[in-house]
Amino acid sequence: MYAASDKRYQSMPYQRVGASGLKLPRISLGLWHNFGDVDRIENQKEIIFGAFDRGITHFDLANNYGPPAGSAERNFGRILREDLRGYRDELIISSKAGYYMWPGPYGEWGSKKNIIASCDQSLQRLGLDYLDIFYHHRPDPDTPLLETAQALDLLVRQGKALYIGVSNYSTAQTQAIAQIFKQLGTPFIIHQPQYNMFNRSIEQGLTDVLAAEHLGAITFSPLAQGLLTERYLNGIPADSRAARSSSPFLQPDNVEATLATVRQLHQIAVERGQSLAEMALAWNLRQPTVTSVLVGASRLSQLEDSLKALDHLDFSPEELQKIDQTLAQ
Ligand code: NDP
Repeated sequence: MYAASDKRYQSMPYQRVGASGLKLPRISLGLWHNFGDVDRIENQKEIIFGAFDRGITHFDLANNYGPPAGSAERNFGRILREDLRGYRDELIISSKAGYYMWPGPYGEWGSKKNIIASCDQSLQRLGLDYLDIFYHHRPDPDTPLLETAQALDLLVRQGKALYIGVSNYSTAQTQAIAQIFKQLGTPFIIHQPQYNMFNRSIEQGLTDVLAAEHLGAITFSPLAQGLLTERYLNGIPADSRAARSSSPFLQPDNVEATLATVRQLHQIAVERGQSLAEMALAWNLRQPTVTSVLVGASRLSQLEDSLKALDHLDFSPEELQKIDQTLAQ
């Protein structure tokens, strides 16, 4: 039977999400990969318990995480039931609706029908009464923003979600839905965008809107799915996400194409006395609106490496300039 470490709150810093009362650990764990039915439950437990023992109180899920879709929530629900039951009030558990989940016109996007039904399914798989944060996973070009916002607001009023977030929304969409949530009185506090050295698009307006609206960001794929680590310095290992993935971003050609840059970034990290993963996370956390970085891990040792980022978060202007120059080449 798992018992959490007594030292779990000794080293992790927590930061308030925007102007809300909610604090998140500066590093949170995402369960997109490595927590489906295709993954060993013992390894899942080792990572989750290891994370919680080190102060990671926030675990991020979505309806479709697996594979198969839904299995990450089911597996996390099992671990909650079997091992973490006594710790529910120490955990921030999030889920999302928006990507394809079931056939027919109601199984994806942002209608009220989809969002309410999907959240109910997630709660059932997780065995929970409520989610701490519930997200709309991606903007829906067809459903009026007001309908999506009202559906998310209803979840809060029904007690099924404490806080609301959006993910993958553009700057303009974020600004628009923030105004609606203000009128509804919805606790909309967080945006979940992608942000890493290879995708800096949030710097073109979104971070300004988040700051102006007093919202926080939790950034996903801060390690560019593993590219911004030492994982691929000597080729594509058989047990890596690139070897297993169908993502175009991790196709061998693309991994190869980034290698020269990754090697230079690695050198900058070495000069800072950090691993590349540590530097990539510290770089992410330098943004004032970034409350937390959402990392993935296929084994506990990766998470341990990532957590060391917190020992050295500062950058000199020269280091930042060197990184910018490397990325611009
Ligand atoms: P990362 O960029 O952190 O990539 C994680 C992967 O990188 C790991 O699975 C592992 O890959 C490798 N890795 C991690 N740490 C190290 C290390 N220290 N050294 C070497 N390799 C390492 O994030 P993800 O892409 O996994 O995304 C994180 C979370 O963000 C997701 O779980 C999910 O919660 C969320 N997300 C949200 C999205 C959205 O649309 N809202 C979209 C995508 C993600 P390997 O398997 O090769 O070992």
